[in-house]
Amino acid sequence: MSEDAIRLEALRKTYKGRKGQPEKHALKGIDLTVPRGSVFGLLGPNGAGKSTLINILAGLVLKTSGKVSIWGFDQDENPRQSRASIGVMPQELNLDPFFSPHGALEVQAGLYGVPKAERYSDEILEMIGLADKADAYARTLSGGMRRRLLLGKALVHRPSILVLDEPTAGVDIELRQMLWENIRKLNAQGMTIILTTHYLEEAEEMCDEIAIINQGEVVARDSTSNLLGRLDARAMVVHPAAAVTTLPSGPGIEAELRTDGAVVLRYHSQTTSAEAVLEAVRTAGISIRDVKTEEADLEDVFLALTASS
Ligand code: ADP
Ligand code: MG
Repeated sequence: MSEDAIRLEALRKTYKGRKGQPEKHALKGIDLTVPRGSVFGLLGPNGAGKSTLINILAGLVLKTSGKVSIWGFDQDENPRQSRASIGVMPQELNLDPFFSPHGALEVQAGLYGVPKAERYSDEILEMIGLADKADAYARTLSGGMRRRLLLGKALVHRPSILVLDEPTAGVDIELRQMLWENIRKLNAQGMTIILTTHYLEEAEEMCDEIAIINQGEVVARDSTSNLLGRLDARAMVVHPAAAVTTLPSGPGIEAELRTDGAVVLRYHSQTTSAEAVLEAVRTAGISIRDVKTEEADLEDVFLALTASS
């Protein structure tokens, strides 16, 4: 059995054009592996193909070609096992208004063939903070509660892999924190997590590994820290002891005086050393009260990788 949670080989999806529209190549031959036990981020701008990929994993969209293996089970050869290995929290709120939260979880468990004795709906409700709403009318649930219920539904069959499609898009900070906490807890229990997001901050905060997709192609795939290290842009912010009259200068150094009196020095760590930057500051006669450096964040990496298209 393979070590990977997910293995995709040359995965393609072409949507037929609607009424006179050209066909849409949503996935253009994706090769990707997701290691077991990780929190894996699938990052990309709107329209990149994230939901298409997720929905293929979930069995909701038929791939055009390529191979999909889930927890070592080929999706075509072992459809039942591969489906049982994965739980998906979809991007859209598609809840049946006639079911209470408890009812919705029971129905979902039934769909996955989970025997009554093995169901744990009450435990799930507890975890997603809906225990007191177990038998409430679905229409009385807030948007945030519905989203949490979608997470609960993805868990009824105790999948090895949990996939969340933009779990925190448009949610408030409190719900985002709660979802993050749930995700961390499930991962700590051994569940492999895959989440899509267009919030770089979320990927940076949550994910061990990241694939960036853009226009149906993987443009980067690395550990979060490597990805962040890829750009060597640095900014040193110097707070001077007295007002600055002369800006520091030197090869590879770009200096700028901020309105708060601090001097921002931009440089690339591969070609210019921090020492050289500090030396330029001293040469300009600036005495340093405080100094800090800033590294590139994922946003910079992302922009650099998706800029050409
Ligand atoms: P993302 O989730 O990254 O925003 P999607 O997978 O939803 O991206 O969409 C990828 C591309 O495929 C987009 O250009 C989108 O318009 C197109 N697309 C998605 N679903 C369909 C569909 N059912 N029919 C035609 N085109 C689609
Ligand atoms: Mg999407």
